[in-house]
Amino acid sequence: MDYRSTQGDLSTILKSPTAILQGLAPDGGLYVPLHFPQPTYNLATLISLPYQQLAATILNWFFDEFTSDQLLKSANTAYGNQWDSSLIAPLTSKHAGNYYLELFHGPTLAFKDIALQMLPQLMSRAAQNTQLEKQIVILTATSGDTGTASMRGFSNQKDTQVIVFYPAGGVSPVQLRQMLGQPGANLHAIAIKGNFDDAQTSVKHIFNDQAFNDRLAQNNNCFSSANSMNIGRLIPQIVYYFAAYGQLVHAGGIQLGEKVNFTVPTGNFGDILAGYYAKKLGLPINKLLCASNENNVLTDFFKSGKYDRRRNFYLTNSPAMDILVSSNLERLLFDLYDENCVTVAKLMKQLATDGHYQVDSTVLNKLQEQFVAGFATPDEVEAEIKRVYLNDGYVIDPHTAVASYVTHQYQQQSHDTTPTVIVSTASPYKFPETVYHALTNQKVSQSGLPALQQLHGLLGDQLSTGVQALVDQTPRQEKVINPADMETLISKILNLK
Ligand SMILES: *Cc1c(COP(=O)(O)O)cnc(C)c1O
Repeated sequence: MDYRSTQGDLSTILKSPTAILQGLAPDGGLYVPLHFPQPTYNLATLISLPYQQLAATILNWFFDEFTSDQLLKSANTAYGNQWDSSLIAPLTSKHAGNYYLELFHGPTLAFKDIALQMLPQLMSRAAQNTQLEKQIVILTATSGDTGTASMRGFSNQKDTQVIVFYPAGGVSPVQLRQMLGQPGANLHAIAIKGNFDDAQTSVKHIFNDQAFNDRLAQNNNCFSSANSMNIGRLIPQIVYYFAAYGQLVHAGGIQLGEKVNFTVPTGNFGDILAGYYAKKLGLPINKLLCASNENNVLTDFFKSGKYDRRRNFYLTNSPAMDILVSSNLERLLFDLYDENCVTVAKLMKQLATDGHYQVDSTVLNKLQEQFVAGFATPDEVEAEIKRVYLNDGYVIDPHTAVASYVTHQYQQQSHDTTPTVIVSTASPYKFPETVYHALTNQKVSQSGLPALQQLHGLLGDQLSTGVQALVDQTPRQEKVINPADMETLISKILNLK
């Protein structure tokens, strides 16, 4: 299938394997299908497929340069026994009135595994299909979950090195342990002195350093990116919306064809955009609820049509959503502006230079037809964890709690009785400090692994494979460097001449 950039005209069209290997378009835009797929399928048949076959089918609509056999093999490897649920994305029965779609049964306990178990498969086959014959160097700045999930996904992958930079002292204790404990000779996690923005800026600088890229090429290496703007990460996320719908039909929660709402805890807008794409592909979705934390730039945007990042940045108890520029929103704008790349480029430029932009009333109407938006403060997050727990003993993580709170508010204020699925993005064990405090009103005695064990003691449930692995792995020594020394370190890791 042909892909184009959201900010470029039709002179730069490329095929999906190249789009996946490149990650970001050179003009700064994001890759989108030139013609959005309009597949014909029987919904009842589709949603009855096992997860792996469902994934292969949906990926084939977008990435048809790969053979069906390649896609099925990829899906079988990506969604194999490293998951502790054979459903991959199991849907719960109702808790406090709503269903929860648990996306955290993979190896690093957060929903990014869904995409990052698949992306390495797609990249290595894309490299074969395009006869790349270079070592791929995945370079990433992370505030936590992307780093852990990329390292796990690419661990010991042939002809691939993964170099992750994270802010020293800026990731959660459990995330740190995951990054330093993940086995794999090709994995490198390095702390830099500074915050996440410093890490991100330095990584972008290295990506664009022409001399360094030339040196890399002379040594038969090339950079690639596993961040959530990569189309190879986005498309695999469409699958669980269909899988959730299937489980709901089969459990008798809805009739085939009946509409459902999905609430999505949102940061970079990748997860919820996949839901929007599912709807475009014909899945019966009524509303998509966009749930934010105190960094509620999207809540304001969906109310007023004005996107304004000129505001305080808060560190909250749902850190994966602490973000003021939601990159994947650009793909939604592209769609709602009828694929007008000139307008999208103009708005994105305004955002970069002035810090804000305003969409017109036609687009605002379209936004409000499809989306509802709300947010939760850290205190509301803790109260929501407790409310759901007191209902019937179900425990949710802080990110899921943001979505759960927003759903509850919306249902009380509106007359919308549509069955609703809350997308559950992390295991409560990944953020044990907050969850423990929410449930007991007491602080854990020590953060990190001891906190996890303390929460486990409180809940007395069975630890999943991913949580158990954390307990079993011995972490490497942490390495901290100055941002100025990043290129030198990369040269050393890659043995560049
Ligand atoms: C990344 C992440 C999110 C936000 O997802 P986006 O696709 O960036 O909107 C929410 N919850 C958790 C646990 C995450 O890791």
